Amino acid sequence: MSEDNENCLFCKIVKKQIPAEIVFETKEVIAFCDIDPKAPIHYLIIPKTHISTINDISEENSEIIGLLYEAASKLAVMSGVDKDGYRVVMNCNKDGGQTVYHIHLHFLAGRQLNWPPG
Ligand code: AMP
Ligand code: ZN
Repeated sequence: MSEDNENCLFCKIVKKQIPAEIVFETKEVIAFCDIDPKAPIHYLIIPKTHISTINDISEENSEIIGLLYEAASKLAVMSGVDKDGYRVVMNCNKDGGQTVYHIHLHFLAGRQLNWPPG
């Protein structure tokens, strides 16, 4: 279910070993454009430390989750979508639709998003 850091795609993006269009970066968090966007604006906001799934969040590492949302809030203003709105979502495991096992907050904006999601 989880990959180790060495083989993790998003850890490689953090280490700048593979390219990504980075839109936001702090000491703890990095955000980049999704390679296969599902909306006019589609960023992935990730912790720089490897956490495989939501199930691996505990009191030891949960502080990072607030930082992911803080990044989302800043990206919304930077992208000019804070007033019109946007969606942030994190998928977990197979039924949740997770395909990359390094937690990431999807930031989607720029069109009317449907609810409920498919
Ligand atoms: P999920 O299905 O929730 O695990 O989301 C994984 C996301 O990562 C998908 O939306 C993919 O399009 C995206 N993705 C996969 N590889 C890359 C990459 N190299 N750079 C940017 N986004 C990627
Ligand atoms: Zn990773």
